[in-house]
Amino acid sequence: MSRLGLDDSVRFMKGVGPHRAGSLASLGVETLRDLVHYFPMRHEQHGPTVAIEDLQLDQTQAVVGKVLRAKLIGVGRASRIQAAIGDQTGRMHVTWFSAPWMLEKLTGGAWVKIRGKVKLYADWPQMVNPEIEFLSTPIPTEAAEQQRLLPVYRATEGITSKQIDQIVRRGWKMAAPQIEEWYDAPYRTQRKLLPRRLAMQRLHWPDTPTQLAEARHRLAYDELLLLQLAVAIRRWHVREGRQAPAMPLSATIDERIRRRFPFKFTAAQDRAVREIVGDMGKSVAMNRLLEGDVGSGKTAVALYASLLAIAHRWQVTVIAPTEILAEQHYNRICEYLKGSRVRHGLLTGSTGAKVRRGLLKAAASGELDILVGTHALLEQDVEFARLGLVIVDEQHRFGVRQRATLRGKGHAPHYMVMTATPIPRTLAMTLFGDLDISVIDKMPPGRQPVRTRLMARGDEPAAFRFVKTRIEAGEQAFVVYPLINEAEDLPLRAATEEFERLKKFYFADTPIGLLHGRMPAAEKQKVMDAFVAGRTKVLVATTVVEVGIDVPRATVMLVQHAERYGLAQIHQLRGRVGRRNLPGHCVLLADTSSEQALERLRVLTSTTDGFAVAEADLRMRGPGELIGLRQHGLPELQVADLSKDMELLMEARRDAQALVARDPRLRSPALAAIREELRRRVGQVIGLIDVA
Ligand code: ADP
Ligand code: MG
Repeated sequence: MSRLGLDDSVRFMKGVGPHRAGSLASLGVETLRDLVHYFPMRHEQHGPTVAIEDLQLDQTQAVVGKVLRAKLIGVGRASRIQAAIGDQTGRMHVTWFSAPWMLEKLTGGAWVKIRGKVKLYADWPQMVNPEIEFLSTPIPTEAAEQQRLLPVYRATEGITSKQIDQIVRRGWKMAAPQIEEWYDAPYRTQRKLLPRRLAMQRLHWPDTPTQLAEARHRLAYDELLLLQLAVAIRRWHVREGRQAPAMPLSATIDERIRRRFPFKFTAAQDRAVREIVGDMGKSVAMNRLLEGDVGSGKTAVALYASLLAIAHRWQVTVIAPTEILAEQHYNRICEYLKGSRVRHGLLTGSTGAKVRRGLLKAAASGELDILVGTHALLEQDVEFARLGLVIVDEQHRFGVRQRATLRGKGHAPHYMVMTATPIPRTLAMTLFGDLDISVIDKMPPGRQPVRTRLMARGDEPAAFRFVKTRIEAGEQAFVVYPLINEAEDLPLRAATEEFERLKKFYFADTPIGLLHGRMPAAEKQKVMDAFVAGRTKVLVATTVVEVGIDVPRATVMLVQHAERYGLAQIHQLRGRVGRRNLPGHCVLLADTSSEQALERLRVLTSTTDGFAVAEADLRMRGPGELIGLRQHGLPELQVADLSKDMELLMEARRDAQALVARDPRLRSPALAAIREELRRRVGQVIGLIDVA
């Protein structure tokens, strides 16, 4: 077998033809490097083998023996193979159904290991359709057999876990000498890390669970270090690189801005304002995440920042993920700015051509102070004369590229993102390490807490009776479904079909509306307007209502199939009700009897604190749903698991920060291997430090 380099294709390996190469590619394995980094999903501990005379009825056991005879009975699909297998202590029957091709391999005298459930057949022990392994040496040594943890790889069409195992073993022989160590010995000793090569080998083929855990620890650390290096480099780059206009606050400006609001800022808002003002006063670009529950008053704080920029004659743009939200921001801004000289505009996909031209002209000439909008703002012909502040709402819906586009429209604008997804602080710090974080953790006064109840599917009539009592009191309700249309393969109720059913059975004499993401924008708007104005009382919807919509008289959020949602997502949904002076109600209809699922949902009935909910969600489901690493331009994790490896993450973070502080461009030869790996995983980030 010729030697392969790590970057050579697995196609060139013995035993990997074009067909298998295709299967491997669909698993993300193309090169030898990919192959040896394709770690098992889990390991199976196969119990020791048992002598035939010791087999126990109804137990799943393994036997090593010799094939005594085998014959095919019947034909085609109905055929079966009947074989006898013996060892020194006795003999047994084995039957395989529908596997005539095996006959050829079951030659008399072949040594096999079989594993399956033990039954009796005419007084003989027997196994039906057992797993079988053909052994090249007669009998594996007992000791090795008992310790063995066998890797189970994620397989796919055309290739089994076992075949992957064989290919990885062959690949490993060639790859192992080429695997480089990342750290020197003292660094490893101090952190109790195995050498990288050994760790890789043991993550595939550990002898003991302890070895497996140690191997995992080392490789998880490596991944988390890479992740944190990416974050630390970005942060360093942002700090070092970005000149921005300084926009210092004066007492006069502060007073003028605050006059625009019909309320006093809460202490939490004031703290966020202080942090933002501190950033914008400097000639380094602000890069800040503003986090706060729905209704905590982020928009007011964002407008404060906007007015500060405008006071210094800079332009501001605010981008929201949906038209409904952009309009809502815009309307609120209009309200706050009534009677002021600030010139503002709204640009979305449904803005007419003529109005659009006017807006673009005004933005490019500097006549417009603040432009609110959607993705439409990202178009190339949208230009600003003096863009000084970019505000992004609900940033996790925008990709890295889009955010960069937006920033590029200014020379070097200050930058702020707002999110109502309560991201646990530890996680936010680690994933958005390049952003500073302000948290609004207290609600404005007068907001009513939302009462949350968990009900079973069978309680639906009672739930809707409750909805009716609220409607009779002049209030409104959302009913949310996970799907737009029913899907054959999912036993889920869907908005469109349910809309008809609810109309018929529960709300025959109540005006109700239907809203989902696939409706044309104009129609969505009409439905939304009718609901906001109170012409419809119930809004059946998918989670398009999740972000940001304000309906003052909506007090009930009924969530169907609550078990299908993340806690944070439901928390956002219930943030839509219970504003002003009307108490809110959230009803969770759960279509499950899984105690685990119900336990999870009970978190929502016991706390209204978004951060507590997010922490619980993180603990129970992991961060996968909360955050897409790839989407944030960060390396993805294979081995590490953010919901379990929090401590290791913090350690890696400290180490990464120290490394970058000493050597921000990772130029030291000792870091060459890490730098290379970083380039492979997140070239973007290395791009930041490659420039001379
Ligand atoms: P968010 O953007 O965080 O969801 P908003 O800024 O939209 O929150 O504010 C939610 C509601 O609370 C709005 O009606 C707003 O006018 C009101 N509000 C904001 N700040 C205060 C405050 N300090 N005191 C009273 N009401 C406030
Ligand atoms: Mg808002």
